[in-house]
Amino acid sequence: MSRFFSRRFDALTPYTPGEQPRERKFVKLNTNESPYPPSPMALRLARQAAGDLQLYPDPECTALRQEAAARFGLKPSQILFVNGSDDALNLAFMAFCDETRPARFPDVTYGFYKVYAALHGVPYEEVPLREDFSVDPADYKGAGRNVFLANPNAPTGMALPLAEVEEIVASNPDNVVLIDEAYVDFGAESAVSLIDKYENLLVVQTSSKSRSLAGGRLGWALGNEALITDLNTLKYSSNPYCINRMSMAAGLGSFADEEYFRWCCGEIVKTREKSKEALRALGFEMTPSQANFLFVRHPRVPGAALYAALREKGVLVRHFDAPRLSDYNRITVGSPEEMETLIEALKEILK
Ligand code: PMP
Repeated sequence: MSRFFSRRFDALTPYTPGEQPRERKFVKLNTNESPYPPSPMALRLARQAAGDLQLYPDPECTALRQEAAARFGLKPSQILFVNGSDDALNLAFMAFCDETRPARFPDVTYGFYKVYAALHGVPYEEVPLREDFSVDPADYKGAGRNVFLANPNAPTGMALPLAEVEEIVASNPDNVVLIDEAYVDFGAESAVSLIDKYENLLVVQTSSKSRSLAGGRLGWALGNEALITDLNTLKYSSNPYCINRMSMAAGLGSFADEEYFRWCCGEIVKTREKSKEALRALGFEMTPSQANFLFVRHPRVPGAALYAALREKGVLVRHFDAPRLSDYNRITVGSPEEMETLIEALKEILK
């Protein structure tokens, strides 16, 4: 830390992103990227857009918002595009939380929530998940504070049904309920259909997982126009050109190419279900994931040892040190071939 660093951030512990190794080629199952390339239409439009890089991008993302609005059955004014859904989460903590408007989220969830809370000086409560890692909806009904829920949750992959999400939203009319749907396209129910009914609901999604655009950094928030206006006020007070031309064009291509999007999600779900069976046959236990990753433990091998042994064999997964999580590893659902390599490596390790 330099002597110039603001005292405001003395106690800040930054988020630790998953490893992005460069020194060696791994079967990379650690950061929930898609095993499939972006849609051909997304790539074609991104290449075209690269020819205009001397010009600033459209800060309003007009064409992209129109395309997305049609897909979601919303108005363009109900959508905000930003630089990855992390950016949307950051703006939401900044816009809707402060010392008098605290936040509540599960103790086991996306690790960035508490970083954003700390960054913006927001008091927060972490509510323990149930023993089986499920979210107890009762913990969030009538919470009297802003609620942040990843649905499906990370790193468990477990999802709440839409009816429970609706009850949480309906019972907190004076607080914002943010539903982080980074993994929703792999089988959970989206809360987008509730947006016109509840002015306090904000849904956040990303192109990083189901749309194969993690490197493009494109995320969005969907909600009541007034909430989106607030987020825009902060976007235009920090970085209005936060989406570059190529990512904006790739996003447009991805939304336009619905067929490819559905195909990718379908393949990943099939591979997930097959991988569950193969892992269970090896004695693994797991949460009932509806996401593009599996959260698994083996009764005989500690989580950290399994992570290290897989790494040794060139397969990278994600291990978390936190007390409730350390028995487990989170494994991204890759291509069928990658999952075959994983299973073979595990068989050797368990021998
Ligand atoms: N929410 C959740 C639950 C996530 O796991 C992630 C990915 N790390 C994000 C949001 C952020 O994704 P991105 O910024 O790539 O859109």
